[in-house]
Amino acid sequence: MTAVDLGLPAVPRTSSGTRPDTPALIDPFGRVAADLRVSLTDRCNLRCTYCMPAEGLDWMPGGQMLSADELVRLIRIAVESLGVTNVRFTGGEPTLRRELEGIIAATAALDPRPRISMTTNGIGLVRRARALVDAGLDRINVSLDTLRPERFAEITRRDRLGDVLDGLAAAREAGLSPVKVNAVLLPGINDDEAAELLRYCVDNGYHLRFIEQMPLDPQHGWSRTQMITADQILELLRAEFELTPSSAPRGAAPAERWLVDGGPADVGVIASVTRPFCGDCDRTRLTADGALRSCLFSQTETDLRAPLRSGAGDDEIAELWRATMWAKLAGHQINEAGFAQPLRPMSAIGG
Ligand code: SAM
Ligand code: SF4
Repeated sequence: MTAVDLGLPAVPRTSSGTRPDTPALIDPFGRVAADLRVSLTDRCNLRCTYCMPAEGLDWMPGGQMLSADELVRLIRIAVESLGVTNVRFTGGEPTLRRELEGIIAATAALDPRPRISMTTNGIGLVRRARALVDAGLDRINVSLDTLRPERFAEITRRDRLGDVLDGLAAAREAGLSPVKVNAVLLPGINDDEAAELLRYCVDNGYHLRFIEQMPLDPQHGWSRTQMITADQILELLRAEFELTPSSAPRGAAPAERWLVDGGPADVGVIASVTRPFCGDCDRTRLTADGALRSCLFSQTETDLRAPLRSGAGDDEIAELWRATMWAKLAGHQINEAGFAQPLRPMSAIGG
């Protein structure tokens, strides 16, 4: 098997081991991180079975969470000193953060202004979509795994499908573009709904992306044999649609895209497990309690909260950030013997 099969970087690790003299977030394989994922909280108002237990998790204590000012300072350093051009807010559920609009507005005021996006479960968007756009939000991803109310209640343990569908419509009406929908298919639960979800998204002008389920659940219940793979997703869709590979450049985007019935609508599949794209990764991640991660699956992280609170200057923090990314591994290793899930679940890292 080659590095390309594994989705690993084509550039071999630099032989000198010396970090080039660049302010950017470069790693030893030549990848440059320009896309910052910021988790605003580990809490959530849903309890998706593949993400959280019914009783929730041990939430981060308030004092351990970064304040809005601390978050904005770190985002400013990333944008102004480290070359970050895209900032995505996520969680947990980012809309639970009361200062969300203020954090977005402060991010939009940075120079150069980054593109700002958010991943959300869509609850509360009906009321907030306009204010989020006014604050500077450019794009949104809303998670939606089913269109059936009873199923939604089974998967998320909350009866809120109507709120999510209304939230999606509100996002579109507020001018967010594109509005993307993220869906995770679970065997025997909602895998019979792949085509229905795509029809709904095409009819409503939303861009659907299926995500392969990854080993990031706190229950450690993920199993390779119990996940719906990209190939299976495509087969389910091809029963009802003609799919042709999109010729649009993929860049660092995680989704492989197909035109639906000749286009212009398309559908994406994020095949993190079966077709890893680590070779093109351009992400760096900040958790709500100030930990820096170079990968969703990192076993190590760099605490920025302590230096932040003990008076470190911007240059010192920027150097810690560069060093963290310089330690990034070639790939996530899900498909390798001895793979171990990270201690943090998805909801505490930020998806
Ligand atoms: N609460 C927000 C939401 O649901 O969109 C943002 C955070 S959530 C962790 C981000 C995305 O990760 C969602 O689309 C969710 O379906 C997805 N997700 C959660 N756990 C996952 C897993 N184990 N594998 C793949 N995707 C997962
Ligand atoms: Fe909450 Fe998102 Fe996890 Fe569902 S996937 S429980 S909405 S954080």
